[in-house]
Amino acid sequence: MREETGWLFDYYPRGSEMVFWFITDEHGPRLRLAQPYAPRCYVEAKDSKSLERFKMSLERSRSFRFEGPAREKDFWTAKERTLHAIQVVDLESSYKDLLALYRKHPDLSYYNCDIPFEQLYGYQNNLFPTALCRFRYEGESLIECIALEKHSDSDYPPIPLRVAHLHGEGYLSPNRAALRFLALEMEGRTIEWETNDLEDTLHSFNAYLDDWDPDLIWTTGGDSILMPCLFHLANVAGVPLRLDREAGIKRNLGQQGRSYISYGRIVYRDPDYPLWGRWHIDHRNCFLDRESDLEGLIEASRVSRLAVQRMARRSIGTGISSVQMANVSQHGFPIPWKKAQPEGWKTALQLIRADRGGMTYMPKLGVYENVVELDFVSMYPSIMTNFNISPETVNCTCCPEPETSVPELGYRICDKRNGLISGALVPILEKRIEYKRRMRATKDPDEYRRYNNRQTALKWLLVCCFGYLGYKNARFGRIEAHESICAISREMLLRTREISEEWGYSVLHSLVDCVWLKKSGQSHEEVERLCRAIEDATNLPIGIEGHYSWLVFLSSKQYDDLPVPARYFGRFEDGSMKYRGIEIRRSDQAPVVQFVQGELLELLSQADSLEACRKLEPQLRAIALEAERRIVEREVSLQDLLLKRQLSQSPGEYKSTTMAATAAKQAARLGQDLIAGQEVYFVVIDSKAGNPDARVCVVDLLAPETDYDVEFYLVQLRRAVRTLFDPLFGKPKENTRTQPLEASQQVFDFH
Ligand SMILES: [Zn+2]
Repeated sequence: MREETGWLFDYYPRGSEMVFWFITDEHGPRLRLAQPYAPRCYVEAKDSKSLERFKMSLERSRSFRFEGPAREKDFWTAKERTLHAIQVVDLESSYKDLLALYRKHPDLSYYNCDIPFEQLYGYQNNLFPTALCRFRYEGESLIECIALEKHSDSDYPPIPLRVAHLHGEGYLSPNRAALRFLALEMEGRTIEWETNDLEDTLHSFNAYLDDWDPDLIWTTGGDSILMPCLFHLANVAGVPLRLDREAGIKRNLGQQGRSYISYGRIVYRDPDYPLWGRWHIDHRNCFLDRESDLEGLIEASRVSRLAVQRMARRSIGTGISSVQMANVSQHGFPIPWKKAQPEGWKTALQLIRADRGGMTYMPKLGVYENVVELDFVSMYPSIMTNFNISPETVNCTCCPEPETSVPELGYRICDKRNGLISGALVPILEKRIEYKRRMRATKDPDEYRRYNNRQTALKWLLVCCFGYLGYKNARFGRIEAHESICAISREMLLRTREISEEWGYSVLHSLVDCVWLKKSGQSHEEVERLCRAIEDATNLPIGIEGHYSWLVFLSSKQYDDLPVPARYFGRFEDGSMKYRGIEIRRSDQAPVVQFVQGELLELLSQADSLEACRKLEPQLRAIALEAERRIVEREVSLQDLLLKRQLSQSPGEYKSTTMAATAAKQAARLGQDLIAGQEVYFVVIDSKAGNPDARVCVVDLLAPETDYDVEFYLVQLRRAVRTLFDPLFGKPKENTRTQPLEASQQVFDFH
């Protein structure tokens, strides 16, 4: 028997075993070990008859074996009751078998059945991806593995990975597959392959994979094209690829992604091409990579106990759901099966927008100096943990007359139990505060970046914890808990406004968890004291987001005098800019428009007062005029004129002649199978043409001589320029319907 220390790189089920990959040092070979694993699931039957029928079906299943009755605690009531244990004997076929059993026996309740086995193994054995472990083994069998660190630790040595980048250009349609180019890059070495002789190329590619043996392969678009193309060609050529370290992996070579509805919006997701025993992460198919780099992805994976490749591809909601299941499981409760699987959320931003259940006070339109913005830190999760709001604690069955209840609603909050769903967030909240503290303390830019990436990943996890509560189909969904959080947040925002006004501040705008306050001559120390007073009154952490040198609250795009939440731009005293809701942040704008607005904002960031802004007017106008000239004289490249639209249905279903629908139809004629949720890119060539087809040109049909609609792009550009100029410099004379800069009325809006 041998004993070693190393990082747990990957683990997954195979047959009736769990397979583990360890990294013991940066350069050495990776160690594969296996261990038998037969986890226990449970069912609950209403009566003995339905249990007998279930047992008969079970006898024909090759994945499960009936064990017998077991006393287990119920998550919702914390009381013991009798369940029936079944043992999983084949990990890989069990989920399919389970679905068949459920269809036949929908009257039973199921527990621990639908959790990916590597996650369940992690919960039960205190393990998580990339954990540093002490492990003992005999030959190829893992005897014991103990983590030397906790998922809540904020100091951990980064796992030493061999990182490669795979580049390639593939083409794949039902009738044809081709590879135009393939290159592998690792640690300063690059191999490029001629792809004329496919068989040779694949053999050579395999040889380099074996020799360099990367742990992580990055691609850009690997999930959508390159991986399905490579695996398909390898099949045809009869040369099995050694991309997986695990031997004998069979995959469905689908290349069609899926569309699903999330919060009323259609979202498209590329197909999955994870590897076994190695990681493949596609920059284009990984939200956390874009937001927080590999460091953030690994952090999220550790705290959620989700395999890194799964964390990369699934929504953040899947991550936070696993955090909660882990806490429930570790407190000795079987995890109820989530029967209807609501698909997760592609981006957490969508979620925040959908979840603006808090209170909004519309901004007082105008331009301001001496403004400070205060933000509650992770407001919704803090409410859950500080007020014990959890699905099992709101209107519990054990406390008919508890000490505390929810404002407005009067819901009871349990005195006896600490919420498990809310409690699961505590280590994440604490860890995020710790990372932010270290960011402030460090002078090392690498360290700053690392902590920032980690805290950003945690922020996204926390953002999602609230959305799940509102979903009645979610595993731990409970609408009353969701409503309670909203009610408490409204109450606390009201208190914040009252205290701020008592302290002599005027409240310009407040939005869910932020407030913008104005008072002449406020010192940083005074604002800090105000924050502590608010914390005392609300039991929620609040901090200073920043002091603005100047700030502009903008009206709605359609109506000059209509205030809208979260549409503003301003400059912080440190010279950084903050803007929301304006063209540069909008995905439906042409790049040329965004570049110009960005240039203007960049120049404005030098102005430390409104007076200084006005002094810059000639320079700013010169930038705008130069941009107009370039559009008129057709100097703008087509690339910079591309508009992006997300399809809400498949091109064939479109009846309308919107620009996006027309572009999608053009793409369809080129043989591109776009489906709802995917994006289409096009240039406007003649927006007033009678024939819709002549109005736009889809990206694939663009030619160097394609001409664009100058008038259309000028209008777009001028709109973005006026967003910044009108409030700062006043409106052009011909527009007499203007409003005074500071609208006097205050609009309250209780959503
Ligand atoms: Zn209770």
